[in-house]
This record gives sequence, structure tokens and C-alpha cells, in this order.
Amino acid sequence: MPATPNLIDDVYDEILSRNPGEPEFHQAVREVFGSLDRVLERNPQYVQASILERICEPERQIIFRVPWVDDANRVRINRGFRVQFNSALGPYKGGLRFHPTVGLGTVKFLGFEQVFKNALTGLPIGGGKGGSDFDPKGRSEGEIMRFCQSFMTELYRHIGEHTDVPAGDIGVGQRELGYMFGQYKRITNHFTGVLTGKGLEYGGSLIRTEATGYGATYFLQNMLQAQGKDIAGHTVVISGSGNVATHAAEKCTALGGKVLTLSDSEGFIYDPEGLTQEKIDWVKELKNKRRGRISEYAVAFKGAEFHAGKTPWGVKCDLALPCATQNELLGPDADVLLANGCVAVSEGANMPTNLDGVHKFKAAGILFAPGKAANAGGVAVSGLEMSQNSARISWKEDELQRLLVDIMKGIHDRCVEYGTKPGGGVDYVKGANIAGFKKVADAMLAYGVV
Ligand code: GLU
Repeated sequence: MPATPNLIDDVYDEILSRNPGEPEFHQAVREVFGSLDRVLERNPQYVQASILERICEPERQIIFRVPWVDDANRVRINRGFRVQFNSALGPYKGGLRFHPTVGLGTVKFLGFEQVFKNALTGLPIGGGKGGSDFDPKGRSEGEIMRFCQSFMTELYRHIGEHTDVPAGDIGVGQRELGYMFGQYKRITNHFTGVLTGKGLEYGGSLIRTEATGYGATYFLQNMLQAQGKDIAGHTVVISGSGNVATHAAEKCTALGGKVLTLSDSEGFIYDPEGLTQEKIDWVKELKNKRRGRISEYAVAFKGAEFHAGKTPWGVKCDLALPCATQNELLGPDADVLLANGCVAVSEGANMPTNLDGVHKFKAAGILFAPGKAANAGGVAVSGLEMSQNSARISWKEDELQRLLVDIMKGIHDRCVEYGTKPGGGVDYVKGANIAGFKKVADAMLAYGVV
């Protein structure tokens, strides 16, 4: 049996050479591998069955052309992706991202994260991810619809309620899902739960919209409560201003926290008075209906400031929720947050903190929840949407709220079980990675070599 530290390094080197030019995928793999040495030492059956090598190789990767016609009658071409990463626990499940930065490496990193995240929810869902380099910014309603229809005209043959169930992510919300579901239904003549995050009129679930932001806040609350602390009375810095950020702000505010910031790709707003439900509703309207920029907040609300071209991490706070995108919080940002007395970070986005930042938070011993644990509430309610669609029923809001709270508590407790350090304290990164990995690995072992 080879010494496991060498095995992990060897497998990682192999991944680098087999997947060139995919730095985000390498980063996600490295973060998980950093937690696995003892697990592999104690479980030689994983090594024997090459689980590490197999879990990093997607089961299937689909890349396709998406032609569409813009409003000026010009034919445009984008690239579509669906990476069906791992189906050991259930149908592939994960969102679709429409953003100009999307490439195979982005989709693979998101799919890899999704495998462990979905395992942590305790629901029967495998992991996948997809999307396109299409940029929805500035596109008309008609252009968005034609793009979504063209995207689904290829994707439909690869997905299905028992095979692969996509949902939203950055650039894909209820509007886009509506167009895609309509096209799927038209092509296949099947009304099934093939997508989640749908509108409530046609099979969507209550609480799905709120679930990622609320869930990240519940996770933060669970971590604080385990130390006898709470969100109430604390200042909170949040990045992003989309679905995750606004709902994290809403729940933090409801729990008595004072939310000071939101952001978008152009800068951040600082509101020293703190956000209120009324202000958050205004931001939701701004982003979902008017598709405006966060800078407008500082015009609408007296006392608020807009800081162009900056991220919000320099604002003094007790708690931080990065809810925008990957690698938005770097090592130097972590230094500033720590110097300003931040005691807990809960990742609402996928991999928003880079490895340097993660190491700094871990070394400082503050509470740090990785996205695959903290933002799993969204996909968890997607899993519940699948159950409701299969049974052709809709659960009530209070039941779904209760389930979301329970699932987030369950994920927290699984992280504590696998991440408690010998001297006390919890390494949530390690806990999440080990708990997720073990569940998927054990199922893979049961299947033999497939
Ligand atoms: N895109 C979300 C995530 O990162 C949700 C996926 C889903 O609901 O399937 O988890």
C-alpha cells in the first residue's frame, strides 16, 4: 500500500496534467484533497478501488453549440456545457450558469463541489453542473428567450427527472428556467420535474428562491450558537446583490443582525444605518425587475455610500457572508477582515474564498463555513422540489421552512462530527469534505468498478 500523502500528491499531479488550463477545478480538488489524508489511511478500501481518481473524473461531459438570432437579426453562437459529474447518490443535480467567464474548467469546479454539497444534504441527489458563456447582461427579453430555447433544444436529450435535473445559478433565474422548461415540455411532450427552481404555477416549490441565502444564514447561526453566540446585535458584511445575497441579508436582518453592505461587479454599497426589509425589497426589485446596478442604492437611500471598483471586505464587521462568486475574497481581504475583528464567515457563493484566504481564516481559528456546506440550502430545497414533483403535490410553506432549518442543522452536525479538532474547535472545511466524500465513496464502492 503506498503511503497516502504520496498517493494524494500523485493523483493531484495526474489531475493537473489531464485537465490543463482549468485552475478553478484544480483549486476545488486541492481543497478537498487537503482534508483526506487520514480518511485514506484508515480506509484502504478507497485506495484499492481508486476512488480518489474516479471521483475526480466526471462520468460524462457534454459540450454543444448554441446558435441563436439577436434583435438585429444577426446569428450568434455560444457554447453550452453540462458536466454530469457523479450519480452515485442519485440523478445528477446542479445549476446552470450563464456568464461570459463560463468554460469547461468553471463548470467542472462547480460540478465537483456540487457532488459533495449534495451528499451533505442527506438527500438522494448526485452532482452535476452546466451553463454557457452567454452574457445575459443588456439582452432583451426576446433574446433571452431565444437563447434559452436554443440551449434546451440540445440539452433536453441529456437530462430527465431520473437522469439529470438542472436548476439555476448565476444568470439563470426563474425567467430563464421558465423558458427552458417550456421548451423541454414542448419538445418531449412530458410534464415532469426535469428542472427545479421553477415558477410556483408550474411545479416550483415554495422557499426555493429564499433557500440558499436563508440556509447560509442558518449555518452561520448554527456555528455561532455552538459557541454560545448569536447573529443578533452583530454587524454583517455581505457581497453580491442577487438572489443569494438579498435573502441572506433578509434572514440576517430578521435575526437581529445589522447588514452594512451589498455589492455587484461594479462596486459595493455601504449603509451605516443597516439594511431594512424595505431596503432589501427595493434591491430585489432593482435586480429582478429593473435589472439595474447596486450603485443606484446610494442615490435612493440617504446616508448610503457607493464605492466603485471595490469589494466590501474592508468594512469593519463581526460576520461576513460572501455571496457573489468564486475567488472574490482573497488572502489580503482575509487579513483585513481578521484585523477588523470578524469572528465568522459563511460562504453563500461557491468557493468565494481562495485557498490563501481559507488558510488564513483556519489559522486564525475563526468560524469558517465552506460553500459546499453553508450554501447547500438551495439545492436541498431543489431536492424537495423533485420529491413534490414526483408525488405531484405541493408542500406548505411552514413544512418547507422546517425542513430547510433541519437540513442545515444536519449539515452543521455532520461537519462537527468529522471536523472536530483534537484540542477542541471545529474545522468545518475538513468536516464538510470528509462527510461528503465518505458518503459518495461508500456508494461507489458498493457499485463495484463502474
Ligand atoms: N446552483 C445552486 C448551487 O450552487 C443550486 C443547484 C440546484 O438547485 O440544483 O447549489
